[in-house]
Amino acid sequence: MARRKLAAGNWKMNGDLATLAEIDALCAEHPEPGCEVLICPPAVLIHAMKARTADCPIAIGGQDCHHAVSGAHTGDISAHQLKDAGASYVILGHSERRAHHGETDADVAAKAAAAHEAGLIAIICVGETEAQRDAGETLDIIASQMAGSIPEQATARNTVIAYEPVWAIGTGRTPTNDQIAEVHALMRDRLQARVADAADVRLLYGGSVKPGNATEIFAIAHVDGALVGGASLKASDFGGIVAALQASG
Ligand code: PEP
Repeated sequence: MARRKLAAGNWKMNGDLATLAEIDALCAEHPEPGCEVLICPPAVLIHAMKARTADCPIAIGGQDCHHAVSGAHTGDISAHQLKDAGASYVILGHSERRAHHGETDADVAAKAAAAHEAGLIAIICVGETEAQRDAGETLDIIASQMAGSIPEQATARNTVIAYEPVWAIGTGRTPTNDQIAEVHALMRDRLQARVADAADVRLLYGGSVKPGNATEIFAIAHVDGALVGGASLKASDFGGIVAALQASG
Protein backbone atom coordinates (compact mmCIF):
# COMPACT_ATOMS: atom_id res chain seq x y z
CA MET A 1 0.00 0.00 0.00
CA ALA A 2 1.50 3.33 -1.04
CA ARG A 3 1.54 5.98 1.65
CA ARG A 4 -0.92 8.65 0.46
CA LYS A 5 0.39 12.09 1.46
CA LEU A 6 -1.80 13.89 3.96
CA ALA A 7 -2.22 17.60 4.67
CA ALA A 8 -4.20 17.82 7.91
CA GLY A 9 -5.50 21.07 9.40
CA ASN A 10 -6.31 21.42 13.10
CA TRP A 11 -8.57 24.42 13.65
CA LYS A 12 -8.45 23.94 17.44
CA MET A 13 -11.10 26.16 19.15
CA ASN A 14 -11.26 28.54 16.19
CA GLY A 15 -13.92 29.13 13.57
CA ASP A 16 -17.69 29.30 13.30
CA LEU A 17 -20.27 28.81 10.57
CA ALA A 18 -19.06 31.94 8.76
CA THR A 19 -15.52 30.50 8.65
CA LEU A 20 -16.74 27.69 6.40
CA ALA A 21 -16.25 30.18 3.54
CA GLU A 22 -12.54 29.28 3.88
CA ILE A 23 -13.45 25.71 2.95
CA ASP A 24 -15.28 26.94 -0.16
CA ALA A 25 -12.11 28.79 -1.15
CA LEU A 26 -9.91 25.77 -0.46
CA CYS A 27 -12.17 23.53 -2.55
CA ALA A 28 -12.21 26.07 -5.39
CA GLU A 29 -8.41 26.29 -5.31
CA HIS A 30 -7.81 22.51 -5.03
CA PRO A 31 -10.80 20.71 -6.58
CA GLU A 32 -8.69 17.60 -7.19
CA PRO A 33 -5.73 17.68 -4.82
CA GLY A 34 -3.04 15.13 -5.58
CA CYS A 35 -2.86 14.33 -1.87
CA GLU A 36 -5.33 13.77 0.92
CA VAL A 37 -6.63 16.98 2.51
CA LEU A 38 -8.19 16.90 5.97
CA ILE A 39 -9.69 19.62 8.14
CA CYS A 40 -10.41 19.00 11.83
CA PRO A 41 -12.75 21.82 12.91
CA PRO A 42 -14.42 22.20 16.31
CA ALA A 43 -16.90 19.31 16.62
CA VAL A 44 -19.94 21.61 16.31
CA LEU A 45 -18.89 22.44 12.74
CA ILE A 46 -18.35 18.89 11.48
CA HIS A 47 -21.87 18.30 10.25
CA ALA A 48 -22.10 21.62 8.43
CA MET A 49 -18.64 21.21 6.95
CA LYS A 50 -19.53 17.76 5.69
CA ALA A 51 -22.62 19.14 3.94
CA ARG A 52 -20.60 22.02 2.52
CA THR A 53 -17.95 19.70 1.04
CA ALA A 54 -20.32 17.24 -0.65
CA ASP A 55 -18.66 17.93 -4.03
CA CYS A 56 -15.11 18.38 -2.77
CA PRO A 57 -12.69 15.61 -1.72
CA ILE A 58 -11.84 17.15 1.68
CA ALA A 59 -11.93 14.75 4.62
CA ILE A 60 -13.19 15.96 7.98
CA GLY A 61 -12.00 14.98 11.43
CA GLY A 62 -12.54 15.56 15.13
CA GLN A 63 -9.91 16.87 17.56
CA ASP A 64 -10.54 14.41 20.39
CA CYS A 65 -13.02 11.71 21.43
CA HIS A 66 -14.02 9.84 24.57
CA HIS A 67 -13.00 6.21 24.91
CA ALA A 68 -16.55 5.08 25.74
CA VAL A 69 -19.25 4.55 23.13
CA SER A 70 -21.89 6.48 25.12
CA GLY A 71 -22.87 7.26 28.68
CA ALA A 72 -22.73 9.80 31.49
CA HIS A 73 -19.77 11.86 30.27
CA THR A 74 -20.99 15.46 30.24
CA GLY A 75 -19.30 17.55 27.57
CA ASP A 76 -17.55 14.64 25.90
CA ILE A 77 -18.07 13.26 22.40
CA SER A 78 -17.73 9.62 21.36
CA ALA A 79 -15.90 8.36 18.30
CA HIS A 80 -19.20 7.01 16.98
CA GLN A 81 -20.77 10.47 17.28
CA LEU A 82 -17.89 12.03 15.33
CA LYS A 83 -18.30 9.41 12.63
CA ASP A 84 -22.06 9.90 12.60
CA ALA A 85 -21.61 13.66 12.12
CA GLY A 86 -19.38 13.11 9.08
CA ALA A 87 -15.85 12.67 10.40
CA SER A 88 -13.47 10.06 9.05
CA TYR A 89 -10.44 11.01 11.19
CA VAL A 90 -9.80 12.09 14.77
CA ILE A 91 -6.69 13.74 16.25
CA LEU A 92 -5.72 12.11 19.55
CA GLY A 93 -3.09 12.89 22.18
CA HIS A 94 -2.42 16.42 20.90
CA SER A 95 0.02 18.09 23.29
CA GLU A 96 -2.66 20.61 24.28
CA ARG A 97 -4.89 17.70 25.38
CA ARG A 98 -1.98 16.04 27.18
CA ALA A 99 -0.96 19.30 28.93
CA HIS A 100 -4.35 20.95 29.61
CA HIS A 101 -6.44 17.86 30.25
CA GLY A 102 -3.86 15.54 31.79
CA GLU A 103 -4.23 12.89 29.08
CA THR A 104 -1.79 10.02 29.51
CA ASP A 105 -0.46 7.59 26.92
CA ALA A 106 -2.94 5.00 28.24
CA ASP A 107 -5.83 7.46 27.75
CA VAL A 108 -4.68 8.11 24.19
CA ALA A 109 -4.42 4.38 23.45
CA ALA A 110 -7.94 3.79 24.80
CA LYS A 111 -9.32 6.66 22.70
CA ALA A 112 -7.51 5.38 19.61
CA ALA A 113 -8.98 1.91 20.15
CA ALA A 114 -12.46 3.49 20.39
CA ALA A 115 -11.79 5.49 17.22
CA HIS A 116 -10.78 2.32 15.36
CA GLU A 117 -13.85 0.53 16.65
CA ALA A 118 -16.02 3.36 15.28
CA GLY A 119 -14.30 3.23 11.89
CA LEU A 120 -12.25 6.41 12.30
CA ILE A 121 -8.59 6.89 11.39
CA ALA A 122 -6.70 8.02 14.50
CA ILE A 123 -3.95 10.63 14.16
CA ILE A 124 -1.88 9.93 17.27
CA CYS A 125 0.35 12.86 18.30
CA VAL A 126 3.70 12.54 20.06
CA GLY A 127 6.32 15.15 20.84
CA GLU A 128 8.88 16.35 23.34
CA THR A 129 8.88 19.56 25.38
CA GLU A 130 11.74 22.01 25.05
CA ALA A 131 13.15 20.92 28.43
CA GLN A 132 13.12 17.29 27.31
CA ARG A 133 14.94 18.20 24.07
CA ASP A 134 17.51 20.27 25.97
CA ALA A 135 18.06 17.30 28.31
CA GLY A 136 18.76 15.02 25.33
CA GLU A 137 15.63 12.95 26.02
CA THR A 138 13.78 13.48 22.71
CA LEU A 139 14.17 10.01 21.21
CA ASP A 140 13.36 8.26 24.51
CA ILE A 141 10.23 10.38 24.95
CA ILE A 142 9.00 9.71 21.42
CA ALA A 143 9.67 5.96 21.74
CA SER A 144 7.89 5.77 25.07
CA GLN A 145 4.87 7.84 23.90
CA MET A 146 4.57 5.58 20.86
CA ALA A 147 4.82 2.41 22.94
CA GLY A 148 2.07 3.66 25.28
CA SER A 149 -0.28 5.48 22.90
CA ILE A 150 -0.64 3.10 19.94
CA PRO A 151 -3.29 0.44 20.61
CA GLU A 152 -3.04 -3.25 19.72
CA GLN A 153 -5.31 -3.12 16.70
CA ALA A 154 -3.45 -0.27 14.97
CA THR A 155 -2.72 -0.73 11.26
CA ALA A 156 -1.58 1.52 8.43
CA ARG A 157 -5.25 1.84 7.41
CA ASN A 158 -6.54 3.13 10.73
CA THR A 159 -3.57 4.99 12.20
CA VAL A 160 -1.38 8.00 11.37
CA ILE A 161 1.39 9.21 13.69
CA ALA A 162 2.19 12.93 13.99
CA TYR A 163 5.49 14.16 15.41
CA GLU A 164 4.75 17.52 17.02
CA PRO A 165 7.53 18.98 19.16
CA VAL A 166 5.63 20.90 21.85
CA TRP A 167 8.03 23.86 21.62
CA ALA A 168 7.36 24.24 17.88
CA ILE A 169 3.56 24.42 18.13
CA GLY A 170 2.28 27.92 17.48
CA THR A 171 5.69 29.48 18.14
CA GLY A 172 7.05 30.00 14.62
CA ARG A 173 10.04 27.85 15.59
CA THR A 174 10.77 24.56 13.84
CA PRO A 175 13.36 21.85 14.42
CA THR A 176 16.21 21.57 11.95
CA ASN A 177 15.70 19.21 9.02
CA ASP A 178 18.16 16.81 10.66
CA GLN A 179 16.18 16.83 13.91
CA ILE A 180 12.93 16.07 12.07
CA ALA A 181 14.66 13.34 10.05
CA GLU A 182 16.11 11.75 13.19
CA VAL A 183 12.74 11.56 14.94
CA HIS A 184 10.87 10.33 11.86
CA ALA A 185 13.46 7.58 11.30
CA LEU A 186 13.03 6.51 14.92
CA MET A 187 9.24 6.52 14.55
CA ARG A 188 9.40 4.34 11.44
CA ASP A 189 11.71 1.94 13.27
CA ARG A 190 9.63 1.78 16.47
CA LEU A 191 6.42 1.19 14.55
CA GLN A 192 7.73 -2.24 13.59
CA ALA A 193 7.26 -3.39 17.16
CA ARG A 194 3.67 -2.11 17.25
CA VAL A 195 2.13 -2.49 13.78
CA ALA A 196 2.36 -5.36 11.26
CA ASP A 197 2.36 -3.05 8.22
CA ALA A 198 4.68 -0.46 9.79
CA ALA A 199 6.24 0.57 6.47
CA ASP A 200 2.82 1.77 5.26
CA VAL A 201 1.89 3.93 8.27
CA ARG A 202 1.87 7.62 7.40
CA LEU A 203 4.06 9.89 9.52
CA LEU A 204 3.27 13.61 9.72
CA TYR A 205 5.35 16.50 10.99
CA GLY A 206 3.53 19.26 12.90
CA GLY A 207 4.73 22.52 14.45
CA SER A 208 4.75 25.93 12.72
CA VAL A 209 4.40 24.51 9.20
CA LYS A 210 3.72 27.33 6.74
CA PRO A 211 3.68 27.71 2.95
CA GLY A 212 7.22 29.13 3.23
CA ASN A 213 8.81 26.10 4.95
CA ALA A 214 6.53 23.29 3.72
CA THR A 215 8.54 22.32 0.63
CA GLU A 216 11.71 21.88 2.66
CA ILE A 217 9.94 19.83 5.35
CA PHE A 218 8.17 17.59 2.81
CA ALA A 219 11.53 16.67 1.27
CA ILE A 220 12.66 15.00 4.54
CA ALA A 221 12.67 11.19 4.56
CA HIS A 222 9.63 9.55 6.21
CA VAL A 223 7.64 12.82 6.26
CA ASP A 224 4.35 11.92 4.59
CA GLY A 225 2.61 15.23 5.22
CA ALA A 226 1.85 17.73 7.93
CA LEU A 227 -0.46 18.46 10.83
CA VAL A 228 -1.04 22.21 10.65
CA GLY A 229 -2.57 24.50 13.27
CA GLY A 230 -2.50 28.27 12.66
CA ALA A 231 -1.80 28.09 8.93
CA SER A 232 -4.82 25.83 8.34
CA LEU A 233 -7.31 28.58 9.21
CA LYS A 234 -6.90 30.56 5.99
CA ALA A 235 -7.46 28.86 2.64
CA SER A 236 -4.64 30.92 1.12
CA ASP A 237 -2.08 29.59 3.64
CA PHE A 238 -3.33 26.02 3.83
CA GLY A 239 -3.69 25.93 0.04
CA GLY A 240 0.00 26.78 -0.23
CA ILE A 241 0.88 23.86 2.04
CA VAL A 242 -1.39 21.52 0.04
CA ALA A 243 0.31 22.69 -3.17
CA ALA A 244 3.77 22.04 -1.66
CA LEU A 245 2.72 18.55 -0.57
CA GLN A 246 1.26 17.84 -3.99
CA ALA A 247 4.50 18.96 -5.64
CA SER A 248 6.60 16.79 -3.30
CA GLY A 249 5.44 13.78 -5.34
C1 PEP B 1 -0.83 21.97 16.09
O1 PEP B 1 -1.35 22.50 17.04
O2 PEP B 1 -1.07 20.77 15.82
C2 PEP B 1 0.12 22.74 15.29
C3 PEP B 1 0.97 22.10 14.55
O3 PEP B 1 0.02 24.11 15.39
P1 PEP B 1 0.85 25.20 14.54
O4 PEP B 1 0.88 24.74 13.11
O5 PEP B 1 0.09 26.47 14.70
O6 PEP B 1 2.22 25.24 15.12
